[in-house]
Amino acid sequence: MSDPVLATHNLRKSFGALTATDDVSIDLHPGEIHAVIGPNGAGKSTLIAQICGGLRPDNGTVHLLGCDVTGKSTQARAQSGLGRTFQISALAMEDTVLENALLGALGASKRPWRFWQSTLRDRALRGKAEAALERVGLLDMQGMRCANLSHGQRRQLEVAVALTLDAKAFVMDEPMAGLGAEGSKTLTAFLDTLRHEAPILLVEHDMDAVFALADRISVLVYGKVIATGTVDDIRSSPEVRSAYLGEDA
Ligand code: ADP
Ligand code: MG
Repeated sequence: MSDPVLATHNLRKSFGALTATDDVSIDLHPGEIHAVIGPNGAGKSTLIAQICGGLRPDNGTVHLLGCDVTGKSTQARAQSGLGRTFQISALAMEDTVLENALLGALGASKRPWRFWQSTLRDRALRGKAEAALERVGLLDMQGMRCANLSHGQRRQLEVAVALTLDAKAFVMDEPMAGLGAEGSKTLTAFLDTLRHEAPILLVEHDMDAVFALADRISVLVYGKVIATGTVDDIRSSPEVRSAYLGEDA
């Protein structure tokens, strides 16, 4: 198998007596969607926060494209190609759709913020932002204030921002949350194409989406990965069924 784009090794994080992630080792390969599922409180968001840099692990490492980024800031990881979306929405509500996309493109270009005005006129950045908006189907709404977008459209805009960052790997925490059936279907189809751009580590409760998208699934229970495998492996695992799917093995 090819080298992983993203990998954690023995990630451990405790909050007092509670071990929220207990030696979690997980990886993500090119073209892949690797889903992480588990009951509420299993440690999924804690895992994502350590991968993205919001939480410092007590132990263990995070590697992105072969480089150890464990000590790096969230911003530095984003600039190295870690595209994080959802549940952390950092959209600027008063700004337009285009301005939000430009913020992403600006971040990727490592330019100081004070050049904002010239950024709006920068053809290359603008082209990049517009291309990302077109990909997620929001180009026609580029002049609209973000606050006026629907929930689903904000999700699409978050993906566009990640696209402008030239993400090498996407990390998503419950992207389907709050979307209706139709919205979930649209986003599922979109993620299925997005994986070819960069692989996706997908934390998701919507099992229809997980089963439709995942090449591999890891099951997290009380901070520990109890199983990793294909959709069929996970569906037929008695251990997973009793620990998570709530059925008698
Ligand atoms: P999940 O995303 O799988 O629902 P979380 O990662 O949010 O789970 O939480 C895992 C466990 O860690 C939970 O028991 C939660 O209450 C606890 N936890 C998460 N963040 C903190 C924190 N900042 N301080 C204390 N406990 C936390
Ligand atoms: Mg969570």
